[in-house]
Amino acid sequence: MSAAADGSAAGDLAAVRAMFPALSRSVHGKRLVYLDSAASAQKPSAVLDAMDDFYSRSYANVHRGVHALAEEATAAYEEARADVARLLGAHADEIVFTSGTTGSINIAAHSLVPTFDGGEIVVTAMEHHSNFVVWQQLAKRHGMALVVIPVRPDFTLDMARMRAAIGPATRVVAFSHASNVLGTINPAKEICELARAAGALTVIDGAQAVPHLRVDVEEIGCDLYACSGHKMYGPTGIGALYGRRELLARMAPAWFGGEMVHEVTIKETTWAEPPMRFEPGTPNIAGAIGMGAAARFLRSIGHGRIAAHERDIVAYALPLLAAVPGLSIIGPQAAEGRIGAISFTLEGVHPHDVAAVLDGHGVAVRAGHHCAQPLHCMLGVDSTSRASVGIYTTRDDIDVLVRALSSVREVFG
Ligand code: PLP
Repeated sequence: MSAAADGSAAGDLAAVRAMFPALSRSVHGKRLVYLDSAASAQKPSAVLDAMDDFYSRSYANVHRGVHALAEEATAAYEEARADVARLLGAHADEIVFTSGTTGSINIAAHSLVPTFDGGEIVVTAMEHHSNFVVWQQLAKRHGMALVVIPVRPDFTLDMARMRAAIGPATRVVAFSHASNVLGTINPAKEICELARAAGALTVIDGAQAVPHLRVDVEEIGCDLYACSGHKMYGPTGIGALYGRRELLARMAPAWFGGEMVHEVTIKETTWAEPPMRFEPGTPNIAGAIGMGAAARFLRSIGHGRIAAHERDIVAYALPLLAAVPGLSIIGPQAAEGRIGAISFTLEGVHPHDVAAVLDGHGVAVRAGHHCAQPLHCMLGVDSTSRASVGIYTTRDDIDVLVRALSSVREVFG
């Protein structure tokens, strides 16, 4: 799919781009160069059409009606669950629909932490606040210790510290599969093996991994895995929590309401089987259907092709960016072992100013601490600019970015 490869690959990329209506628009009179997919990815027509079709033809609530529309809606919702399960190498009954990665991690933490009798929660310094604050706060409330594994100078996780930290007191190891700031891909399988050997559970934040890498939860050997629809070309407000079947079966729900119960009496309530137990109330049906369509879309392209294309773009981008005067890449300097979330600083220019000037060139990037303040603090920077690639990013997009960055230097130099 790389534009650098043969003509058919370039044609492939053009065909992929044509599936995303937003990519053909312009901003400020310039071609849109969308390099903010790590914040949220654009949506292909397959996702938009699936949601439109549901709202215009088959709309009804799920799991409660016997009329035709209710049955169609329920079937579409459950098919979407099966599609997400296939994407993650899981079984459908191991997939809980949530509001997103944040929702998934909150469900996991609120359900698990109260069951622990003290002990330690291990997280990493490169976590998004979603996978940091929840553990920090619940550790405080429940008298547990929070152990934070640092990042090494080469922006990889300090695995020596991870190995030393995981032990008999560890109850949970919660870590991101890929960092939204550094782009670093963490050795998920190895961390899960260490945790399992110590009798600890693993919770993986897969928000930045699922759109870019082949994820097989069984192969990784994790207990829980969280992801968001909107980062994987699906809609906002929907996500998934994978949970190992036996684990979900013994987890109590974190929130309560209708549809998640087996029986309710004045004195007691018993729970429905997972995953329903974790989905109280009317779910985000259209969102789930859109996420299912996004999962099918990703599978139809194939993670082998996606990863190869994105690796090509990242390998192209890194040396060009590194050659921009005053620019420092905050993350691994080689394309291997990382995703295409490329954070950087530009000497003497605030990241928000960088983003504002780039916007004038039609280039969308993000600036700030990317919801990872502990990481920025550890790195000694307040904020960074971040260009992030997706399935539709071209080498030309990178050329426009690099040219525009040179003009930032001119404006502020
Ligand atoms: N984890 C990581 C690594 C992320 O990049 C993000 C979003 O940027 C999240 C968690 C939170 O995802 P959401 O806002 O979809 O819940």
